Amino acid sequence: MLFTCPGAAARGGIAPTARGARRHFCIDIHCHVINPAVDEMVKHVFAPEREPAMKFSNALTRETNRRQNENIWACLTTVEQRLRDMDKMGVDVQAISSSPAQFMYWLEPDLGARTARAVNENLASIVARHPDRFVALANVPLQSADAAAEELEYCIRRLGFRGVEIGTNVDGREVSRGLDKFWAKVQELGVMVFMHPNGFTGAERLSDHYFNNVIGNPLDTTVAVAHLVFDGVLERFPKLKIVSAHGGGYIAHYPARMDHVWGARVDARTQLKKEPRQSLAKLYFDTIVFDRDQLRHLVNLWGADHILVGTDYPYDMGWYDPHGFVDGCGFLKDPDRAAIKGLNAAKLLGITGRLKSMGIRPAGAGAKTKARSKAKGAKR
Ligand SMILES: [Zn+2]
Repeated sequence: MLFTCPGAAARGGIAPTARGARRHFCIDIHCHVINPAVDEMVKHVFAPEREPAMKFSNALTRETNRRQNENIWACLTTVEQRLRDMDKMGVDVQAISSSPAQFMYWLEPDLGARTARAVNENLASIVARHPDRFVALANVPLQSADAAAEELEYCIRRLGFRGVEIGTNVDGREVSRGLDKFWAKVQELGVMVFMHPNGFTGAERLSDHYFNNVIGNPLDTTVAVAHLVFDGVLERFPKLKIVSAHGGGYIAHYPARMDHVWGARVDARTQLKKEPRQSLAKLYFDTIVFDRDQLRHLVNLWGADHILVGTDYPYDMGWYDPHGFVDGCGFLKDPDRAAIKGLNAAKLLGITGRLKSMGIRPAGAGAKTKARSKAKGAKR
């Protein structure tokens, strides 16, 4: 078995031997940790109806999730199992972040600040034990822009974290609104943002078939990215480095419609000064798309230098053969494969120097993009 921890479905439906022949340095940008102590901290106030992923689900989904959590608990909460699985996957470094179940932006701000700190201290302890295998992405209490900015600064400056993870909405509010203080701090610190959904907020029709994950997660990402673009966040803070989970949801499928509406209607360009594609081209995307043609589409749109390996470890919606998946992409040249597997992430995480000291060359991704060339060449 490729994996000792998650069940068969968690292996992405591929043969465990589908490992690429060429070994590149591999950084997993999308992998989750749970701190059980945080669940204890919120036991007295926890309200499943505040979590879209739980609210819009049927009984079979809830039972399947319960069994999955039992199955992968050691993966989520212990370092030893995680390291064994990383070795099996060929992942050299994980950029660890909280499971979205522990964002809990609906908590009152004081408790939210304390749970975020507890998440971060747990991540810091994992990194401290194995600094060559892990870097951490901070959890921040986005229910308060001030507290989120403060926690981020603490994590980056005091705990040595390399970035921050955020949700795709803040208890139903857009991440593009009321959080400029947080975005300014992210830009000032120059750190990477990993944006991850936790179900769609208005998912009344998505309760069956795990649709609030299958459809809802990419949908919430799409809505969040569209707001970041049309609310002008990426223009006001042009140096943001945002990695969008699950290949960016549906954003890659219809970007031309966004350009069209921006040109066609005044109500679509109340805040955005240049065409949407120019903001979209600043984003980064992970490889959780399950299909190489889909990855080819992302590379064509945004460039191999904007794609990063993610596994979604240890959940059953993950893909645990990053080398096999990327090496099997015949449309990629070898430097692009090296970039996607680890060198792009090293750059965003600011650990290129560490890689150089290990004799690993810096990123050399060559594939440029139609969209990004167009975006750069656009006059407006
Ligand atoms: Zn995930």
